[in-house]
Amino acid sequence: MRIGQLARAAADELAELVWPTRCVGCDQPGELLCDECRAALPWVEQRLACPVCGAPYGFLTCTECDGAWPTRAAVAATGFHGAPARLVAALKDAHELRLAPVMAAAMLTALDEASAWPAPDGAPRFDPDAIDGVCFVPATAAAYARRGFDHMELVARALCSAADLPLADALVRAASRDQRELGRRERAANLSGTMRAVGDVAGGRLLLLDDVATTGASVAEATRVLLARGAASVTACVFARVW
Ligand SMILES: [Zn+2]
Ligand SMILES: [Zn+2]
Repeated sequence: MRIGQLARAAADELAELVWPTRCVGCDQPGELLCDECRAALPWVEQRLACPVCGAPYGFLTCTECDGAWPTRAAVAATGFHGAPARLVAALKDAHELRLAPVMAAAMLTALDEASAWPAPDGAPRFDPDAIDGVCFVPATAAAYARRGFDHMELVARALCSAADLPLADALVRAASRDQRELGRRERAANLSGTMRAVGDVAGGRLLLLDDVATTGASVAEATRVLLARGAASVTACVFARVW
């Protein structure tokens, strides 16, 4: 072990003593997300979910989308209330980067369940053999400057390594205002034209990841940009769906 690694290990040990790892769900020391809290997440039951926007209970009639999302299918892992909201905040704003693989694992659980149910095109909503690359909705320039990392890049990397899928770091975006400050119509306007696709995605069947979908504006914008650059299809997966 090099000196730097030793120092890092000692610092980690000290941090664990002073500030032990606590569950984002129940605040008990031990794990970042304990088994009980993982089981108690407001999981979306994929059998009942809208195949277009991922909202729960929208399988037959969805009140959360107009059926016109540009994605091939969308899968949401959980609702946003409770532990998922705390998990997203702890990852993004409290810089608990060890939650990235936790979020990725939850998304993979949902994708696995969704693989048993059809997308609007009749194919499974998720099929790892029908994915050529994994992309993510990039942080705004302002958020990246503030945090110093792009949390969805970390989640995408964790998901790729767990599922053995290739990363397609294909989206970038210029500065725009923080979405949380804006209303529904402003969100769409704020995002329009701010995302760009880079690299070669022509013909690619892509899996697009994001943390939270509220109106779906970010996912829709990213999807349009990827399709405009020649992607064959975009399947979206979000950790949490607000409805
Ligand atoms: Zn817990
Ligand atoms: Zn829907």
